[in-house]
Amino acid sequence: AKAAGRNNLQFFEQGMLSAAEQLNNLEKRLRQALEQGELSLAYQPKIATDDNSLKGLEALLRWYDAELGTVPPDRIIPVAEDTGLILPLGEWVLRTACAQTAAWHREGRLAVPVAVNLSAIQLNQHDLVRMVQKILNETGLAPQFLELELTESAVMQNPERARAILQELRDLGVAISIDDFGTGYSNLAQLKRFPIDRLKIDRSFTAGVLTDSQDAAIVQAVVALAHSLKLDVVAEGVETQEQLDFIRALNGQQYQGYLCSKALGVRELERFIDSWQTQENT
Ligand code: C2E
Ligand code: CA
Ligand code: CA
Ligand code: CA
Repeated sequence: AKAAGRNNLQFFEQGMLSAAEQLNNLEKRLRQALEQGELSLAYQPKIATDDNSLKGLEALLRWYDAELGTVPPDRIIPVAEDTGLILPLGEWVLRTACAQTAAWHREGRLAVPVAVNLSAIQLNQHDLVRMVQKILNETGLAPQFLELELTESAVMQNPERARAILQELRDLGVAISIDDFGTGYSNLAQLKRFPIDRLKIDRSFTAGVLTDSQDAAIVQAVVALAHSLKLDVVAEGVETQEQLDFIRALNGQQYQGYLCSKALGVRELERFIDSWQTQENT
């Protein structure tokens, strides 16, 4: 028994945590980070394809932890969803993005909307609409300057319910985008009846427009679909001028991507805006 105890001890001393323990640790750290204000948001510009003007920003979650290093949102969100932490976390993201954008508006620095990502779990949160309304009131951001991004798969989990909630959000004056469009299994008949403003083409398709004829065909089809449903379309993940030219030739209205800028912290974004406006006018 003694030998087994020593083996167990060695097991832990070697730092070999089981997957469950790692997850538990991540959850604990995330909860602390949220409580202690260690999370932040970065903002990625959305640019008009026709005149390069700044059309909006997307808020993206950032977390640097001294022990864990940079933890990307693709790792944070699933843990937050599994533990229920997504509700307070999502509320924090929304409040922070709205407060920051309202401050930029008041300072006269910019006057564009901010887009916030919502998890499928938030869509099912019973008081989502009231929470959004409360945060708009508290931060003083006008509803037409808030856009909510929901993935195609989140909306298609329960299309009837989603449609009702999106309609309530739309009635507040908030805009709705369908994120990662093309990766899920949209029922186009449902989509037509959804109260939405914009489709965002997943960056996996943008990446292939010049090299993969199927990706090119999908992007063409999504832009055509958006036009015929009178929706705006945003191409995500535009990294090269050639990709932008492709989207522009189709009359896709907006793009996001490293070609223009990655997501930036508050100070960096302020510098970006100043230099972008000068560039635009020359
Ligand atoms: P998303 O909403 O599709 O966001 C776009 C992701 O693509 C972001 O990654 C962005 O940094 C990245 N990206 C933008 N331009 C380019 C490009 O030109 N090339 C490449 N390779 N990547 C580009 P990020 O910030 O790591 O976020 C990943 C995902 O995590 C997001 O995908 C979103 O689904 C989720 N997420 C991020 N923040 C939040 C949040 O506050 N709440 C929720 N629910 N989800 C979030
Ligand atoms: Ca998004
Ligand atoms: Ca996306
Ligand atoms: Ca994505």
